[in-house]
Amino acid sequence: MSRTVYVNGEYLPEEDAKVSVFDRGFLFADGVYEVTSVLGGKLLDFAGHAKRLERSLSELDMVAPVDMDALLDIHRELVRLNDLDEGMIYLQITRGADRDRDFVFPDPEKVPATIVLFTQAKALADSPAAKTGIKVIGIEDLRWGRRDIKTVQLLYPSMGKMMAKAAGVDDAWLIEDGHVTEGTSNNAYIVKGARIITRHLGNEILHGITRAAVLRFAREAQMQVEERAFSIEEAKAADEAFITSASTFVMPVVEIDGVALGDGAPGPVATQLREIYLDESRKSAV
Ligand code: PLP
Repeated sequence: MSRTVYVNGEYLPEEDAKVSVFDRGFLFADGVYEVTSVLGGKLLDFAGHAKRLERSLSELDMVAPVDMDALLDIHRELVRLNDLDEGMIYLQITRGADRDRDFVFPDPEKVPATIVLFTQAKALADSPAAKTGIKVIGIEDLRWGRRDIKTVQLLYPSMGKMMAKAAGVDDAWLIEDGHVTEGTSNNAYIVKGARIITRHLGNEILHGITRAAVLRFAREAQMQVEERAFSIEEAKAADEAFITSASTFVMPVVEIDGVALGDGAPGPVATQLREIYLDESRKSAV
């Protein structure tokens, strides 16, 4: 059965949804996106994703084509039309389609932004990977300097996932100046003793919405959190590790560059944080 997707004000069957060949998202990766998870037909942390979207748009001098209340309505309508119980909603806003290919930004008064949303059904809460944990390798971080903006320039993260696949593992952690920035599509954490360590916020990483929630829950549970850079060597010597993102929640990491962490099984901190995150997010879902 075909999905119903949203394009520039219309709900359409996916086969009929079209965007111009001159769209700047297509030509220049001139666009931003968000991924919001759905559990039990409800959106997790919509307010956090909407706030980050507004920030991404404003950092790129882009104008939101709809306000955030309307955006919530569109998300909910797509959940309803597609009968989505569990999965994600992908949202992309680009600087629109100018009349020709031109590096210079068009006037937003003359060229409206393009907005596209679609659903992706997927079992998220009962993920088999969460029970075994995932394996990662460290690779060089060759992305641009504004990773705090959630842009659609995802070629290097895709290449990173391919390098992980070629190495027979699940994902890659990105390393810059000897320190781990984040995963290809997630934030990275290690646990040493009673401390949870994750990279501090800055332009070097995406400010994960799941990261913010998980660190809040960890502090509320009296866990110690250190927001600072850590090296891949420190990670390999950690007791446990994990990643967070909207679609993986809290996912244990059991091996880095072939080195097993702890006893090679998901650690207690990651396991507990995953449970807390799932419980609390379900309670506050809208
Ligand atoms: N870091 C990167 C590079 C990402 O692409 C993502 C998610 O796509 C994250 C971190 C996690 O962010 P969030 O928790 O908001 O999904």
